[in-house]
Amino acid sequence: MDKEENQSEKKNKEKPRFDFGNNRFALLFIVLLVGMIFFVMVNNSNSGSSRIAYSQFLAYLEENRIASVEITDQREINGVLKSTQESFTTIIPYLDSTLVARLEEKGVRFTGAVKPLSFFQILINLLPWIFILLFSWFMFRQVQNNGNRAFTFGRSSAKKYTDTEKKITFKDVAGSVEAKRELEDIVEYLREPESFMQIGARVPKGILLVGMPGTGKTLLARATAGEAGVSYFHISGSDFVEMFVGVGASRVRDLFSTARRSSPCVIFIDELDAVGRTRGAGYGGGHDEREQTLNQMLVEMDGFEPKEGIIILAATNRPDVLDPALLRPGRFDRHVQVDLPDMKEREEILKLHVGKLPTTDDVEVEKIARAMPGATGADLANLANEAALFATRRKSQTVSHSDFEEARDKIFMGMPRSSRLLTDEDKIKIARHEAGHALLHYFLKHADPLHKVTIIPRGQALGAAFSLPERDQYNLEEPYLLDRIKICYGGYIAEQLYYDKTSTGVKADLKQATEIARRMVIEWGMSELGPVAFAQENEPIFLGKEIATHKDYSEETAQKIDKAIRTILDYCVSEAKEILRGKKNLLDSLSELLFKSETLSDREIQEKLEIVPIRLADN
Ligand code: ADP
Ligand code: MG
Ligand code: ZN
Repeated sequence: MDKEENQSEKKNKEKPRFDFGNNRFALLFIVLLVGMIFFVMVNNSNSGSSRIAYSQFLAYLEENRIASVEITDQREINGVLKSTQESFTTIIPYLDSTLVARLEEKGVRFTGAVKPLSFFQILINLLPWIFILLFSWFMFRQVQNNGNRAFTFGRSSAKKYTDTEKKITFKDVAGSVEAKRELEDIVEYLREPESFMQIGARVPKGILLVGMPGTGKTLLARATAGEAGVSYFHISGSDFVEMFVGVGASRVRDLFSTARRSSPCVIFIDELDAVGRTRGAGYGGGHDEREQTLNQMLVEMDGFEPKEGIIILAATNRPDVLDPALLRPGRFDRHVQVDLPDMKEREEILKLHVGKLPTTDDVEVEKIARAMPGATGADLANLANEAALFATRRKSQTVSHSDFEEARDKIFMGMPRSSRLLTDEDKIKIARHEAGHALLHYFLKHADPLHKVTIIPRGQALGAAFSLPERDQYNLEEPYLLDRIKICYGGYIAEQLYYDKTSTGVKADLKQATEIARRMVIEWGMSELGPVAFAQENEPIFLGKEIATHKDYSEETAQKIDKAIRTILDYCVSEAKEILRGKKNLLDSLSELLFKSETLSDREIQEKLEIVPIRLADN
């Protein structure tokens, strides 16, 4: 590859150009056209003879002043005057049937003539046909020449990143150890395709990266190319699906032929499911264009040899909807699962992104990572970025821990809303509600520790009490779930204790509690109904498959399920009420404190209220 060019064109996106096949030809064509128009205009102004009115001509005829005439196409008369030999011309304005008789009568010599069509007139008549011919010729060429000559819409819009661009390697991907290990082979192969093959190893052509959005699939693909030091082509599945029929397929062809020229290389097809859905299925009947694109992709994948040094990586979060043909051996037969990062990995990813920022010493990356359950790599990168923005807003040169806290809250709940609209009465009410949630964290054995509690309204929430899980929990146990439900009811119960009535602020809490209880009953067998799964599978729409909804239990069972859920919820409410009643003093002081400071961390609460979490006291 040309070094010079690489340096100058960084993110070398193939430039779209309106080529028109051959520029010289187009120029010639336009010159010809202009010339033609000009010529016709000049030609039309009949110089040399004076143009007279038809009535004038009739008058001359009456007066016997005309020597001879020539009638062209029965509509134009060119005549010569007897006396002066002057020539004149006139147009016959209507079909004058008496003209010939009159000319004979006056003894004028007359002849008829047909104006020969000039070359240019012929051309003008042919013009539409020429255009049609040219157009079909271009279309034909587009199909013939892989669509990389004629119109731009046949070009792949693949972004090509060359090796001189800031290189991304596996070092830039934190966590994802298993995914990286699986991609190591590919890197080896890309470094030296031939020697790799001599060993007799089978090289996969296509590797499917499967994972949720933001888990770092794109990053991994780029890192694979970067690690091997080869070119990287990026195209998104949705780029193939355009409004013009046949474009997708020609884009695929173009992409592969471009890639061949710069092998070894990595082709990365993002959102493979956009083109690769099961054929002949889905909404609105078949989608011919998509199917053509998919077929072309299959053809191309089958068409290249392992020794060519091309690896196709593709990403999707819906491997289940992919056309089975894509997953056959020799195509995307190897799958690499890119999982949500666990707590340790979140910490590593966050460290990587925080490492790029100037931070103060108080930043506890581990704690922030813990407080972001379920966050993807993209969320964490976003968190670091938001924190930096908060620091900038403070006009600070360094990012502090509170910036991260602020960023986290923003990501989870939105920007803080002005609390000025709230009266003190409202605020104390919210403080009591949140204190109810918060306090339960200390008196439940199986609950997660509290992270912090706040009454600063954000987004939809008027306040919040956050838990801080100590580890990611893949396997939840019944006592833990029950304690979670109890914490959900903390706010509701506090409102009851103080006001004897509750508010709409409990909506989300009740929903969450009910959802946990419902799943305990119908999915996890944690109720008096025993270890039975009543789950009703609700496959989301847009699967490109049949939509399946079925309930495999009777109405009678449904009632039993409802009852079991109620039993769990009632139990949790009474347990939580018991605790908060017993700790009313602490609830009072926590509400007061929260009202004043608006946000309290776990540590502050433990210190100021002198509470020891029962979870720790017991062990
Ligand atoms: P996907 O393609 O799976 O949707 P991306 O690769 O586009 O996700 O990830 C988006 C961003 O998130 C990346 O650019 C990177 O900054 C960050 N990111 C994701 N996963 C990781 C990771 N494992 N290590 C470091 N950064 C990551
Ligand atoms: Mg992506
Ligand atoms: Zn609440």
